[in-house]
This record gives sequence, C-alpha cells and structure tokens, in this order.
Amino acid sequence: MFDDINDLYQQVILDHCKQPRNFHEMPAATCSAQGHNPLCGDNLKLFLTLDGDVIKDASFVGSGCCISKASASLLTDNIKGKTKAEAEKTFEQVRDMITTGNVNGDVGKLAVFAGVHKYPARVKCAILAWHALMGALKGDAQPVSTESEQL
Ligand code: ZN
Repeated sequence: MFDDINDLYQQVILDHCKQPRNFHEMPAATCSAQGHNPLCGDNLKLFLTLDGDVIKDASFVGSGCCISKASASLLTDNIKGKTKAEAEKTFEQVRDMITTGNVNGDVGKLAVFAGVHKYPARVKCAILAWHALMGALKGDAQPVSTESEQL
C-alpha cells in the first residue's frame, strides 16, 4: 500500500500501535468525545479529566489502523498537564505538520507524524484523535467525523 513502508511506520509509531498508552475507559472522565474516520474505519473514544482549565488525565479506547491508534496514544501522553489553550495550540501545530510535513515549534514525539503528509489517505487517520480532543474540550455531544471536518 505504501511506497516505502519503513518511512511511515517508524519505530515510535509501531511501538505505540502495538502497545497503546492510556488505552482504557475512564469512568470518572469529565468529558469525552467519539471520533470516526469512515474512509479507513477508525473508531475511537477519547476521555479527559479536567481540573479547571488543566487536563489532568487522558485516555482512549477504540479500534482502527496503526496510525490512528498510535496518534491517539501519543496524543494522550502529550496533552496530560496541558491547559485547554495549550492543547488547542498543539492541535494547530499537529494539523499543520500532518498536512504539510512542516514541523513548527516543539511538538516532541508527535514529530513522527510529519511523514504522514506524503500519504493523503492516512492524514485523516492521524488527525482523528485530535479532532476528538477538540470535540471533547468544546463539549460537543455529536460524534466527530473526519468527513465533516475541514482539515
Ligand atoms: Zn486509519
């Protein structure tokens, strides 16, 4: 499916795909959002525990391709301890990076997704968890679909 599978499936992505971090339900979550990517069949639910403006904890459950799971896993690791505003800024950085390949600012391990822009069909897999995050922070009751989002 890919011209150079090793280029995309880097070590970090494979690791988070096989052993996703924070992969569990969160009964005490203060907000959550569903994300669905019909093009690939990725489904996930993101849970957040907010303390005022700070994301104290994050987790997810769901099923999908390696990219979508690794993205959600790295997202939950990345946003813990961030404020809502910081999480939104990271979302913007990640969206730019995934769609253009340009890394702006310090995105930490999330930089492994910079290569995804070369595979347009995979961009929505990588961004899905981030749209779910934005949905959860905004308190959207409707499931987030990559088909209704402007990338
Ligand atoms: Zn996918």
